[in-house]
Amino acid sequence: MKAGVIGLGAMGVPMARYVHAKGVLTAVGNRTQAKADALASELEVRAARSAANFADCDVVILCVSLDADVLENVAALAEVLKPGAIVVDHSTVSIETARRAAAMLAAHNIGFLDAPVSGGVEGARNGKLSIMVGGDEAQLERVHDIIGSYAARITHMGITGAGQATKAINQILVAGINEAVCEGLALGEKLGLEPERLLPTLMAGAASNWFLEKRGATMLRDEFAPGFKCLHMLKDLRIVQGIARDSGIRTNTIDQAVADYFELIERGFGESDTSALIALKRARATVESDAA
Ligand code: NAP
Repeated sequence: MKAGVIGLGAMGVPMARYVHAKGVLTAVGNRTQAKADALASELEVRAARSAANFADCDVVILCVSLDADVLENVAALAEVLKPGAIVVDHSTVSIETARRAAAMLAAHNIGFLDAPVSGGVEGARNGKLSIMVGGDEAQLERVHDIIGSYAARITHMGITGAGQATKAINQILVAGINEAVCEGLALGEKLGLEPERLLPTLMAGAASNWFLEKRGATMLRDEFAPGFKCLHMLKDLRIVQGIARDSGIRTNTIDQAVADYFELIERGFGESDTSALIALKRARATVESDAA
């Protein structure tokens, strides 16, 4: 097997390193060419300048930013990959984008798996991501060992789009947990509770969660290096909002989170980690107490 990775950001670089450790990484590509050149030279693989540089790959892994980025790459790969090759997309995009990508590739007898991930940059670096997959199970079998190099769990969720549908649920939970943790810790500061005592106490009980464990201490120090950017969170939540409204469920959590990340981005936190949400919670507490 020969594999390529496109999208060398916070998630894509560690993924590429695991695929390389497996001995199958052939080419890496990225919108900003310098990143591909640097990683390719370090790992002694090909730095792709166009889709044509992935033509000999059996598997191409995508982890890019937006729906348009996935579709642009898929359109180019459809023209060059050989029949039987498989594109695996780890980006978080809409169910509709997954279906369009699969159809574009199927027209050339190329496979497609929508395979969004959860576990954050730590999960990617430690090779412990949860991968939720939509598409043909036989195709998943063929790439299982490669994507398994950076996964704690791979779950086949159903037909094309089922991976992105699962990720939408994941993001509702993530957004709601972030709201609660940031609000709780902002209040903890106001009440003068010491982080060294508060955080382990919360982590030992029913309130423990990934976000509190990984981001609690850093957010209290005003450190918001991504991580998971607010811009990407808003992108995800807008996708989720559409799905949820179409499904007719109440969307209070999603709507609040959309409003909050929109405001954070307006305040210049777009490239910051989602834990920057605590800045908004603190500001609100100040505004409300001033008004009182
Ligand atoms: P990131 O750090 O912003 O990296 C995205 C990378 O993709 C950048 O290197 C970017 O290139 C490249 N890229 C964007 N559009 C491209 C295109 N059209 N062609 C080639 N390369 C392109 O983002 P990330 O945090 O790794 O996230 C990537 C995806 O995974 C997103 O869909 C995100 O929602 C999802 N995700 C992220 C996390 C997380 O915790 N970070 C967790 C789960 C899922 P440039 O260098 O030019 O910017």
